[in-house]
Amino acid sequence: MVAMKIAIIGAGPTGLVAAHELLKTGASVTIFEGEGDVGGLVRMVPSEGEPLEAFYHHIFTSDGAVPELAEEMGLQDRLRWYKPSNALFVRGKLRPFTTPGDLLRLDALSLMDRVRFGLFVLRAQRRRHWGELEGITARQWVEKEAGRAVYEVLWHPLLRSKFGEHADDIGATWLWNKIKLRSSSRGAHQHQEMLGYMDGGFGLLYETLAEDLRRRGGQIRLSCPVKRVDRAFEGGLRVTTPEGEERFDRLLATCSPAALAELAPGLPEDFRHRLTALRHMANLCLLMECDASLSSYYWISVAEERCPFVAVVEHTNLLPSSRYGGRHVIYLSRYIDPEDPLFRASSSEVEAVFLDALEGLFPAWSRDSVRRSRLFRARDAQPVAVRGYDALRPPHATPWPEVTLAAMAQIFPEDRGQNYALRMGRRAPELMGLAGGGAS
Ligand SMILES: Cc1cc2nc3c(=O)[nH]c(=O)nc-3n(C[C@H](O)[C@H](O)[C@H](O)COP(=O)(O)OP(=O)(O)OC[C@H]3O[C@@H](n4cnc5c(N)ncnc54)[C@H](O)[C@@H]3O)c2cc1C
Repeated sequence: MVAMKIAIIGAGPTGLVAAHELLKTGASVTIFEGEGDVGGLVRMVPSEGEPLEAFYHHIFTSDGAVPELAEEMGLQDRLRWYKPSNALFVRGKLRPFTTPGDLLRLDALSLMDRVRFGLFVLRAQRRRHWGELEGITARQWVEKEAGRAVYEVLWHPLLRSKFGEHADDIGATWLWNKIKLRSSSRGAHQHQEMLGYMDGGFGLLYETLAEDLRRRGGQIRLSCPVKRVDRAFEGGLRVTTPEGEERFDRLLATCSPAALAELAPGLPEDFRHRLTALRHMANLCLLMECDASLSSYYWISVAEERCPFVAVVEHTNLLPSSRYGGRHVIYLSRYIDPEDPLFRASSSEVEAVFLDALEGLFPAWSRDSVRRSRLFRARDAQPVAVRGYDALRPPHATPWPEVTLAAMAQIFPEDRGQNYALRMGRRAPELMGLAGGGAS
């Protein structure tokens, strides 16, 4: 019997693990990847020591799909758990934000508002169902349950720096899930948050999986972006890349919904409209290897309206700097509308804007300590989960039975993350109707 020919768009976590499962069904699988490496947003770049993610990554203790894959790839001993220290930059001051005691000392809010904030978080953590949150925005929810000051001082600047002008439209469900996730990542000592990181970086997991796929006959075509997908008269699909046109029986697209709408102009107009209606924020991520540390914190959320970045992630406050040639590894992250001119500005322009602000926040630190810096851009980095998002998500099945969509933007109520990408990719045979069940 001739094996079914399946094309996958994207060699990120979703596409790679989907290929892993689809090969088990006996199909012939080809992954097309536009970039020169596998891993998608989790791809690695060289450093003075061990490789680093282009975009910072860690996992939570509840992210079971990552350890599961690590075990399958024989990498379980490389996954280690660390105690992060977190802080919040708000109202011109850096404030520790790791323990409940830190919250009680958060003098950017009145004592009454701190109590209301604490109770709001506790209630959110205990909440089981999110159905009734779908009809309201995060703003409406926080203002009702914790008061206006809590929203204005804490949540609004954070939501604004992640979602820009969409901040006030973000659904309460998204915020609820974020609060739940952070509080569920606990070790044996329930009061301490634990974060996981893989020795050598998470990219190692995906590079190892890619090697395994190749060994089993899967093809991975790097630097080979899919340019167009059409239905073929003779049945199946024609997939066009710079290398030419090829026929496939089925296609799994792990790119964004809007990207699929562009690649497949023959899809019915109303469905394409549904795909393009989902918006994403882009991300600008400055990776710096420095002589000097900024602070003792791993993660600093910046809740300052005018700051051009939302998070300062000092990776070497989670892992020792000796892993990276003694250098301090610092990421500055900014979510941005992909149409914003800053997203298209040159790397040196973006870096200058970021470093001006960073020196303003940390006057004792100087850009002279930066030994190497690289700016990475991702266009579809964060789905904008507005109120009522559940109903806006397109289904995995498309009007073309040969084409299935498995995109980050379809993950809900959870936010994007490797764990959910892997869970979705694992379901590829089922989503494509190749495992007895139908596509949903
Ligand atoms: C700044 C940032 C920080 C993050 N931090 C964390 C974290 O700490 N922990 C965590 O678990 N997750 C984190 N994530 C999320 C995580 O990276 C994603 O959930 C995960 O990478 C999604 O995997 P994916 O395969 O669905 O998509 P992607 O990783 O985006 O992969 C999609 C792939 O498709 C390719 N592609 C797109 N169009 C085409 C085309 N036409 N032809 C060929 N190839 C194409 C792309 O090049 C890409 O390689 C972070 C993301 C960002 C942006």
